[in-house]
Amino acid sequence: MGQAQIIDGKVLAAKVRDRVAEDVITLKRDHGLQPGLAVVLVGDDPGSEIYVRSKGVQTLEAGMHSVTRKLPAETTQAELLSIVAELNADPTIHGILVQFPVPPHIDPVLIQAAIDPNKDVDGLSVFNAGRLAVGLPGLVPCTPVGSMIMLRETLGDLRGRSAVVVGRSNLVGKPMAQLLLQADCTVTIAHSRTRDLPAVTRQAEILVAAVGRPEMVRGDWIRPGATVIDVGMNRIPSRRPKAAAAGKTIVVGDVAFDEAMAVADWVTPVPGGVGLMTVACLLQNTVTAAKRLNGLAA
Ligand code: NDP
Repeated sequence: MGQAQIIDGKVLAAKVRDRVAEDVITLKRDHGLQPGLAVVLVGDDPGSEIYVRSKGVQTLEAGMHSVTRKLPAETTQAELLSIVAELNADPTIHGILVQFPVPPHIDPVLIQAAIDPNKDVDGLSVFNAGRLAVGLPGLVPCTPVGSMIMLRETLGDLRGRSAVVVGRSNLVGKPMAQLLLQADCTVTIAHSRTRDLPAVTRQAEILVAAVGRPEMVRGDWIRPGATVIDVGMNRIPSRRPKAAAAGKTIVVGDVAFDEAMAVADWVTPVPGGVGLMTVACLLQNTVTAAKRLNGLAA
């Protein structure tokens, strides 16, 4: 069996960010418009803090306006709703992202629904999900957008290919399947009730794993020559016993990486794969939102 090649998220995300930065320069020069992204973080989850900081840095690096609202864990739902309303009304902000998870006393569905759909850069609103479903332009969740860029850069035309998406969340699985369908793939969506999942995934020329189960997809679940997009990000104890005993952890995907590399043609690594594309596509979505809000895009 051969050795797959890696789809390098670092290289492709840098390309997206460069394109975004060029777009921002043009928008400022030709329309006096500086896209702005607001990220709201409630509580002090260390993982979320790292994400939020990195999003803020990348937003500024792309030449955009960046606002980070860090709120204490005790923030009430009403207070958070009023901050969302404030950002909805702020003309310098074109994208709003509330970092999940929020503390248990806050209803994430209610918060998400309060965000102006035109500023919903996570693409989670019913408005944007509906536009995607019927094939109209809108804001599409960043992870599937980034995964599609990886597929197009690697395979070119996707027409007619068989694609299996494992996972059916509103954030990843469903929009991923919609985008693959729009690209004329023959799409299967698998989930926790799918019978004989390995037999289903073995059909896939394109296999997308968005499950949240560390290394669930084994080598013999993968069709030889397939392209594997591993969306999963799972924190597990370090594989080195001493480090694990000291509480050290590592991040792995939903795919057993070494096994996949022995069977597939192309595999995205974790870390260094889809995660980097997600943040880059968040910047891209903010630019899209700024253009649409100012009548510069459909
Ligand atoms: P969810 O928990 O919302 O959805 C998981 C999906 O996987 C569900 O549809 C579920 O099926 C399915 N599933 C669970 N167990 C199995 C199983 N044993 N066999 C088959 N299907 C199963 O997760 P998300 O979609 O939000 O995220 C998925 C993964 O991607 C996570 O690891 C997350 O951390 C990661 N992620 C990574 C991002 C990135 O930037 N790289 C961004 C977003 C998420 P059912 O519907 O039947 O319950």
